[in-house]
Amino acid sequence: MSFENLGLSKPLLRAVKEQGYSIPTPIQLQAIPIIIEGKDVLAAAQTGTGKTAGFTLPLLEKLSQTEPKMQKKQIRVLVLTPTRELAAQVAQSIKTYGKYVPYTSTVIFGGVGINPQLATLRKGVDIVIATPGRLLDIAGQKGIDFSALECLVLDEADRMLDMGFIHDIKRLMKLMPHHRQTLLFSATFSPEIKKLASGLLHSPTLVEVARQNKTADQISQVVHFVDKSRKRELLSQLIKTKDWRQVLVFTRTKHGANRLTKQLEEAGISASAIHGNKSQGARTKALASFKANEIRVLVATDIAARGIDIDQLPHVVNYELPNVPEDYVHRIGRTGRAGQSGEAVSLVCIDEHKLLFDIEKFIKSDIKKVHIEAFTPDPNIKAEAIQNGRGGGKRQGGNSRNSPRSNSSHSNNGGGRDGARSNSRNRNSNRNRNRSEG
Ligand code: AMP
Repeated sequence: MSFENLGLSKPLLRAVKEQGYSIPTPIQLQAIPIIIEGKDVLAAAQTGTGKTAGFTLPLLEKLSQTEPKMQKKQIRVLVLTPTRELAAQVAQSIKTYGKYVPYTSTVIFGGVGINPQLATLRKGVDIVIATPGRLLDIAGQKGIDFSALECLVLDEADRMLDMGFIHDIKRLMKLMPHHRQTLLFSATFSPEIKKLASGLLHSPTLVEVARQNKTADQISQVVHFVDKSRKRELLSQLIKTKDWRQVLVFTRTKHGANRLTKQLEEAGISASAIHGNKSQGARTKALASFKANEIRVLVATDIAARGIDIDQLPHVVNYELPNVPEDYVHRIGRTGRAGQSGEAVSLVCIDEHKLLFDIEKFIKSDIKKVHIEAFTPDPNIKAEAIQNGRGGGKRQGGNSRNSPRSNSSHSNNGGGRDGARSNSRNRNSNRNRNRSEG
């Protein structure tokens, strides 16, 4: 099956060919014809499956097949994304695939000046890619008119819910015409996502490419058990001895990301951190240097890394396991993209055994454990409860929010046994934290 059979016109096929894509990915095969037909779509597609082209190509096709309803240029397609990075990336895809079609697009997100965005919208644009918070601000200032909207896309909808965007999305929905096509993409189908979908979509076609809660098959996953205090040493050693040139490393907290970046730099490994406390300019610069192979390691928190698209990223390291098993799938989805092979290495200390157990349960398979002799964990070290910066400090270990240790993941109170409950607590506190990062 080739792109020629999917109902795309010549200018789009030309752009696809220039990208070097010869075979549509499964999501593209399924979604492109249905979207061109005008149906609502509920798609379970993880990142790395080619989903962005899966919706941007047919939407560009549809725009070219129908005349705008109004004379003045008004927004016809809106793509909502959870993060600025993903918004920028979708906008780039639209530019790439839409190179030979005459449509205009703009990207709208927070953290940068609002006035240029308002000015662009006033001039008129066909496609808007936006994060919900800033778009709602703009709508509040009557800076955008949705009356000609033909299609709404919710990209990475599960993450938008995790980040607490549900109310912003609902408010935006009220401003949109009822008659429109809606596409919802999500890596997982939680009950919350199903509820959101049932309220927004009309008789959607279900498109499912990767089995639910499964990690991409072509990613090789490995766990090394190591003491928490020796993780940095092991990471430096892996990078140096295996000569890893481009590694995305995940930490749980912004503070942890900064600290690890500094330590790697001190060990002679070029690194940069990317997280929500960094300005948009600093995030863009770090990502660009990483993509250009100017720095070897990009240290990221889950939210900041969301939507990062780096072709053929060879290595992802979980320096700390995520509290939420879904985040493990998102993290390792950064490697082994669109058929490429990739490697995901997790450094797991004794405190994280419960998290590992939850992740393996979630992905429904055991991750290979590889013992590294020189880093055999000290059997005398006891597990400590994991804590995530804000919120949990007082409850678990008596640390206050301002305590020097409150951001460093651990309290003195032993036992990961109540991990499930503490995870759900952490998840809620993540929601609040994440919201400020988007
Ligand atoms: P996505 O899942 O949209 O983030 O896309 C993942 C990566 O796959 C991106 O880097 C795309 O450039 C790439 N890609 C998308 N479609 C194809 C295709 N048909 N063949 C090869 N690579 C693709």
